[in-house]
Amino acid sequence: MSIHVTVWNEYRHERTDEAARKIYPHGLHAAIASALEQDPRFTVSTATLDEPEQGLPDSVLEATDVLVWWGHMAHAEVADALVERIAQRVEGGMGFIALHSAHYSKAFRRLMGSGCRSKWWEADDRERIFTVMPGHPIAANLPEFFDLPAEETYCEHFNIPTPDELVFLSWFSGGAVLRSGCCYHRGAGKIFYFQPGHETYPTYYNENIRTVLRNAAAWAAPTGKAPAYGKTEPFETESYKK
Ligand code: ZN
Repeated sequence: MSIHVTVWNEYRHERTDEAARKIYPHGLHAAIASALEQDPRFTVSTATLDEPEQGLPDSVLEATDVLVWWGHMAHAEVADALVERIAQRVEGGMGFIALHSAHYSKAFRRLMGSGCRSKWWEADDRERIFTVMPGHPIAANLPEFFDLPAEETYCEHFNIPTPDELVFLSWFSGGAVLRSGCCYHRGAGKIFYFQPGHETYPTYYNENIRTVLRNAAAWAAPTGKAPAYGKTEPFETESYKK
């Protein structure tokens, strides 16, 4: 059965900033989607902020198994009601992959429950991404570490909850470190945060990054039934209790 992945992008930088447009002429979402489309397990569609219902009407969200999110300059424009629907879907089992500056998206912060800020700078630092949990499904087919020639630097302290699983740890040539690949579970849903992907670097064309995107989407896909909550009958009978 195919995994339905929806790649959501605010799609503003690529229409207003020449440097971003040059690298991602069809938008970051197109580059991210092209990595996922290489894997026959996925049915991939894209959605952007300026589409009707901010790209995610109920019908789309309900049919989405894994939602990939790239946002930066327009976090505040995302409707609170949509954020709440996303959070509910995640707790019911939908996967959520927050990329790069989506660490500060409303949906990621809602799901984390903390400030989610870090230090950052733009200095064309080299980024070295270490696989620190080599047996994790998101680390499949990746080397011990790999480099991106230039990325925006994010630096600890990164105000996220301690990850349930930390898959990647990054070092930057400007002297920074960051927990850059973090897994969380909320209800039946799985969440992955992955830091690389600033809009003026060709990060989403890097083969290792594209492998991470595919691995993460497969890992985050729903695997079980949404748990039931609230008052219920005892599971054991009176005689068994004695
Ligand atoms: Zn950035």
